Amino acid sequence: MKVKVTENCMGDRRCNDLCPEVFEYNEDELKSRVKFEEIPGEYQAIVRQAAEECGAQAIIIEDD
Ligand code: SF4
Repeated sequence: MKVKVTENCMGDRRCNDLCPEVFEYNEDELKSRVKFEEIPGEYQAIVRQAAEECGAQAIIIEDD
């Protein structure tokens, strides 16, 4: 599973709060970024939840 955050991110950091192990805020780009190239299995469920809850629909999941 791969995940990316698009330019639609509005920077409310909700995903950071939900799963700080995977998402962090990039102060330079003013949007969140994903820490992993490949999402570890233990975080995949919470990442799916973050994608569903993202108000900007900015979290895009690419399943293998
Ligand atoms: S929840 Fe969505 S809009 Fe909010 S910081 Fe994360 S990616 Fe950006």
